Amino acid sequence: MITYLRRARAYYIINPAMQECPSCKTCGTLMRSRSRSTFEKFFGRLTFYKVYRCKKCGWRGKLRTIAITSKSLLVIFLYILLILGVSLITHQILKRLI
Ligand SMILES: [Zn+2]
Repeated sequence: MITYLRRARAYYIINPAMQECPSCKTCGTLMRSRSRSTFEKFFGRLTFYKVYRCKKCGWRGKLRTIAITSKSLLVIFLYILLILGVSLITHQILKRLI
């Protein structure tokens, strides 16, 4: 299990500019686009989706900048388990002291 998770991360940062355009399927034509509205600006800051535009066909849309795999879900689950275990131990220690 430890060797299985040795290089696993909770999430992986990906660069959508290196991916192919969802519309014309051309690689290397995507670039970040400015937010046109306040909603887009806040949506981009609160989520992992950023607005991209294709230089070739003019497609404009939101693409995610992180990837989560099945190994990532296991890592996230282990982190949650660790947090719960530490909080339970801390609660028991504080309960005995007070
Ligand atoms: Zn395109």
